[in-house]
Amino acid sequence: MCNSPETFFSQLSMIEKKINSIMLCFFQNLLECNEICHFITTRMDGYSKNPYNSLNLGFHVGDDSQTVLENRKQLANSIGVPLCNFTTAQQVHGDHIEIISENDQGCGSNDYETAVVATDAMVSSVQNICLMVLVADCVPILLFDRKKKIIGVVHAGWKGTVHRIAQKTVILLKEKFGCSGNDILIGIGPSIGPCCYIVDMETITGNVNVSEENNEIILHGNRNGNGNGKGYFDLWETNKLQFKKMGIPEKNIETAGKCTSCNNDIFYSHRKEEGRTGRFGVGIMLNKI
Ligand SMILES: [Zn+2]
Repeated sequence: MCNSPETFFSQLSMIEKKINSIMLCFFQNLLECNEICHFITTRMDGYSKNPYNSLNLGFHVGDDSQTVLENRKQLANSIGVPLCNFTTAQQVHGDHIEIISENDQGCGSNDYETAVVATDAMVSSVQNICLMVLVADCVPILLFDRKKKIIGVVHAGWKGTVHRIAQKTVILLKEKFGCSGNDILIGIGPSIGPCCYIVDMETITGNVNVSEENNEIILHGNRNGNGNGKGYFDLWETNKLQFKKMGIPEKNIETAGKCTSCNNDIFYSHRKEEGRTGRFGVGIMLNKI
């Protein structure tokens, strides 16, 4: 379990802080909950070489596996959670949400092969399982229901966002665990921001059939104002809107507001680095009581 949250986390805000030799970030709203620990890693303070330098946590991106394992151990030591308590998924830009049980503890902690198959969101009520998603531009999202003590992680790239994986995760929390929107805290982590995420508008909206849903995808204008069909996709606001629609109050939703493309010295950016880069991790765990 996390070494006393009081020691590590209580005085931090959504900024980078060095914790036992590695730089980590935290959401202010989640830091206030002693029942959980959470983290956002950066690309700093690891062992991987260029272009994965240096704290790459992804086994699937072409980096040396042994080095990735060392990086993960470094993270585990830093937050005081054994690596065998981590559970990761084989993320596929889909909308499948897996309910994680005791048996899933440690899946994907030491390799890619044993990670939970074809899953982009995980939720759990089990203590001592650290759910982690890996990202480099896609939006990592953490959820915590304070009342029911349920945690969740979501990996939402443009496909996941358009297919409303965030919203579907909340629906599952309500249906399977009896959660209420008022009790759910949300942290929307660093990802490619509306400042940098130029997309083909038709590709984005073409993936949604219902016109009502089109209105819930936040695209900002044309790149040059010349009607070339390009726009800036606002993944943060689009996901936030999904949560608000599910009855989660705005005050419960914290957005990191850090763009991975603008800040690829701190985080990884798949787009800016043209696909050859590492992954940072965003995780959450219910502490053992
Ligand atoms: Zn940017």
